[in-house]
This record gives sequence, structure tokens and C-alpha cells, in this order.
Amino acid sequence: MNCPTCGKTINENDTFCKNCGVPLTLKQRAFATLPQTKKIRMLKISDYFLMFLISIIPIINIITFIVWAASSKTNVNKKNYASAALIFMAIAIVLVIITLLITYYILKLV
Ligand SMILES: [Zn+2]
Repeated sequence: MNCPTCGKTINENDTFCKNCGVPLTLKQRAFATLPQTKKIRMLKISDYFLMFLISIIPIINIITFIVWAASSKTNVNKKNYASAALIFMAIAIVLVIITLLITYYILKLV
């Protein structure tokens, strides 16, 4: 495994990096032992911009978010955002339907 700061090879039980002297917490040691593929890529401003842009396009947003939420290849942060957006949309749709039904019955009574 490699030091998270300088990248030099360190022993798993080292509390300090022998090369740069940085203290290695349990969490850092655990992170350093993770295989490269398990490390999650940080989302960039452009990723967030794209996510917000897609959010405001009707139909496309639901389809894209379902694909993102279901795909195992999607970045986990993007996947969670898509899942949260889908839950939000489902609640919004239910509220709109309830509001429409209430309005419909009120207008029918008048
Ligand atoms: Zn180091």
C-alpha cells in the first residue's frame, strides 16, 4: 500500500509515513489499502451542472435518472443524486394528482 500524501510504499501497520512523516489514521490506512477501482471519483462542477440541467428537462430527466439510479457503472454520488431526485419527483407527482383531484371535486360541487 502507498502513503496517501506522498505515494511512497508504507507498511499496513505504520502509524506514520517513514518517507514524509505524515500521521496515518486508521481511516487513511483503510483508504490507502483500497484497490484503485474502489476509490470514488469526485464529481466536478460540470457534472453537477449537467445533473441540474437534466433535472429541468421534462421526461428526459425521469428517464436519465432511472438509468443512473439503476446502473452499477454510474458514480455512486451521481447515483444517489438520481435516486433522491426520483423520490422527490414521485412525491411531487402524488401531490399534484391530489391537488388536481381536490380542485376537480371542489369545482364539481360549485
Ligand atoms: Zn508519505
